[in-house]
Amino acid sequence: MTKYIYAFDEGQKSMKDLLGGKGANLSEMKRLGLPVPDGFTITTEACIDYLSQGQSLSTEVKTQLVDHLAAFSERTGKTFSSDSNLLLVSVRSGAKISMPGMMDTILNLGLNDDNVKKLAEKTGDARFAYDCYRRLLQMFGEVVYNVPMQAFDTYFEDYKQQHKFDNDAAITAEGLQEICERFKEIYVEEVYKPFPQEPLKQLEEAIEAVFKSWDNDRARIYRDLNDIPHDIGTAVNIQEMVFGNSGDNSGTGVAFTRNPVSGENKLFGEYLLNAQGEDVVAGIRTPKDISTLNDQMPEVHQEFVDVTKQLEQHYKDMQDIEFTIENGKLYLLQTRNGKRTARAAIKIAVDLVEEGLLTKEEAVTKVEAKSIDQLLHPNFEEKALKEATPISKMGLPASPGAATGQIVFSAEDAKAQAEAGKKVILMRPETSPEDIEGMVASEAIVTTHGGMTSHAAVVARGMGKCCVTGCSNLEINTMAKTVYYDGGELHEGDIISVDGANGDIYQGEIKTVSAEHSEEFANFMKWSEDVARLDVRMNAETPQDIEAGYNFNAKGIGLVRTEHMFFGAERLVEMRRFILSSSYEQRVEALNNIRKYQIEDFEAIFRLSGERPTIVRLLDPPLHEFLPNSDEDIENVAQQLDIPKETLNKRIVDLHEVNPMLGHRGCRLAITYPELYEMQVEAIMGSVLKLKKEGIACKPEIMIPLVSTVEEFTTLKDKLVKTIEKLEEEKGDKVDYLIGTMIETPRACLVADELAKHCDFFSFGTNDLTQLTYGFSRDDAGKFINVYTESNILKLDPFQTLDKDGVGKLIEIAVDQAKKVNPNIKIGVCGELGGDAKSIRRFNQLAIDYVSCSPFRVPGAILATAQSQVEESE
Ligand code: PEP
Ligand code: MG
Repeated sequence: MTKYIYAFDEGQKSMKDLLGGKGANLSEMKRLGLPVPDGFTITTEACIDYLSQGQSLSTEVKTQLVDHLAAFSERTGKTFSSDSNLLLVSVRSGAKISMPGMMDTILNLGLNDDNVKKLAEKTGDARFAYDCYRRLLQMFGEVVYNVPMQAFDTYFEDYKQQHKFDNDAAITAEGLQEICERFKEIYVEEVYKPFPQEPLKQLEEAIEAVFKSWDNDRARIYRDLNDIPHDIGTAVNIQEMVFGNSGDNSGTGVAFTRNPVSGENKLFGEYLLNAQGEDVVAGIRTPKDISTLNDQMPEVHQEFVDVTKQLEQHYKDMQDIEFTIENGKLYLLQTRNGKRTARAAIKIAVDLVEEGLLTKEEAVTKVEAKSIDQLLHPNFEEKALKEATPISKMGLPASPGAATGQIVFSAEDAKAQAEAGKKVILMRPETSPEDIEGMVASEAIVTTHGGMTSHAAVVARGMGKCCVTGCSNLEINTMAKTVYYDGGELHEGDIISVDGANGDIYQGEIKTVSAEHSEEFANFMKWSEDVARLDVRMNAETPQDIEAGYNFNAKGIGLVRTEHMFFGAERLVEMRRFILSSSYEQRVEALNNIRKYQIEDFEAIFRLSGERPTIVRLLDPPLHEFLPNSDEDIENVAQQLDIPKETLNKRIVDLHEVNPMLGHRGCRLAITYPELYEMQVEAIMGSVLKLKKEGIACKPEIMIPLVSTVEEFTTLKDKLVKTIEKLEEEKGDKVDYLIGTMIETPRACLVADELAKHCDFFSFGTNDLTQLTYGFSRDDAGKFINVYTESNILKLDPFQTLDKDGVGKLIEIAVDQAKKVNPNIKIGVCGELGGDAKSIRRFNQLAIDYVSCSPFRVPGAILATAQSQVEESE
């Protein structure tokens, strides 16, 4: 028979899967001999069975419940409905991963009309007895039968006002008795049956309600936000009540063993005298700082301080502890690893190592990798944020940061206004390469279309600039320079604030706090690097971004996207000249003009990279991205290139593709126009040879993108090797270089062994690989992916976190095959998944050498690689 219930002295901290965090830790505290009220835990398995099988507790659970209550009574000498020794219990949820406040709790369970009188007689405190009863009536009604909170609260508050009671504690025993009578009537009015007088019935209904609360909306949303699986269920803890509301020698509180905001090593908490747990949370009375307990109950305070130290030492982590004092005696109701800010997490981890409690390997597992972002970008001040008015909560957090500025609707306006000294936020339906200068000039970028790998998202992340994409509730009119949202309209120049951490947009200015890097942060990151196996490189091309990435200790550059180099106004003209040329000679002439820019760019990049490996990807995107769109643009370009507008229009029509992302891009461009890659390789190698003369040795790695067949690769490689040899001969010097490919089509994964014979390196382009594996457009999938994830058709957005079963499988096949034929091949990942902690865990299990991501994701990726390695070695 399955064991569904464990007494507290049968469990321990390692049993979180079955007993939930709260249950396992209550058991553990009991084992440590700490003052924990007696009780037992109904397992998560019972919850999963209940939720899957139907609407009542199984006979097995009911039978085991009765047995445990009997044993419980034997241990405590108390029973439900007893005349002399009344047993009252709390019923609390407790999942494996803590979900503070998301599920339900019932206190004082076991009271009824009859035994409440006996409790009053026995304690000689009728006020206390009826205070417990009114709380039970309300909590039971709310939790078990969803009676709206206001139904009880409105009456309670009116009653206090009418009878001139200043606060809850001032209500007399008679008053509370009257309130209980009315609460029972409210209960009947709402539930259509009387409050159950039989304690066992109360208990069974309460257990069922806690199981059901696993599936309430707020719990589901919390789990989605925190990546907690929906199928692990909650345990239920039944614990003998201790009463913080039994007079002024009693109380209740919550404390953290260290400050959860700053990490300071000082007890941090608050408590209320003569109160029960929910009073502290509800904020009806202002709790007192924990240190003042020393004045009121010095012995209890000392005992509590000692216990907090013991628990922290035992768990080797900062603890969040709930306690109750009943008539001068301390009881512990919960301990768990406390939630904390990223800043506090780093300080606590570093301090615990210095205090000898943690090893460096253990310390790196104590900070959530994705929380590191909080430390690298400015954030909104918490208080100001709470008071702000949101205009969109539908956007995707494409690039973190917090920014405030005046809205503009075109890149030109962004540039002009920024030059006039204004802080601007660029709002566009979507961005394109032409917008680059406007993006650089803006504090943040907001788009209504596009997902996490759209142009705006990728470019902004590279720049470390705040960006929110896919705000589908906003309607931008770039002509009228207005944006509509549900409830209003904003015009050019109006101020908004953009939260890149969660994708929310607000009206008006919100105060920000800037990022700062402590010595602890530097130490912590150094330990992470020491522990990690995978290297972390960056995806970057501008000197500013490259410097940022190297400041975060990137080991090299995993991807220079050369197309980003053509976005500046002058370069764009030359690029357009190349695309629109109709003869080889004209194209070569245009390329000769571009070459000088490319040499400058590569020289700057290699000067910064030096001996660190640097992958330069040859031109990749569809040509139409460089073409003018609007009539006005077309007119301008025709003038710049000195060609008739009609000819230009015809050429644009010729170049039009129905599916540009599947079209003439990547290596396909160079198969038709080899001179393009030849020019780029000459520029790369030319700059490397120049630097060599100055005594700067470089490690160039040339990447051919979007390869599907071995012949595509070998055809281009042969041409490029010849170009390099010719250049070496001209310059009378040699360069060491690698030549490889980006693996981003499913076919390339399947022929990886053949490709690997000719490649020095592979780098997985997971953005395109995901797009092509699913057949989901990376630019448009945002429109439906949230529906897929909400309805569990997809567990996670595969553009943000590796799809292990599909895309991950292709990568695994490719890595295995490639290593078999070319054990020395260097393998990396440079799509957005290269910076995602969960995906990195999988990459760390494969024979991959590095991951690469945008500069501001480098620290989080370094930490994730360290954590993956610790996990694996365990
Ligand atoms: C990719 O496809 O994963 C990649 C890194 O290239 P891009 O995002 O530039 O297409
Ligand atoms: Mg790609």
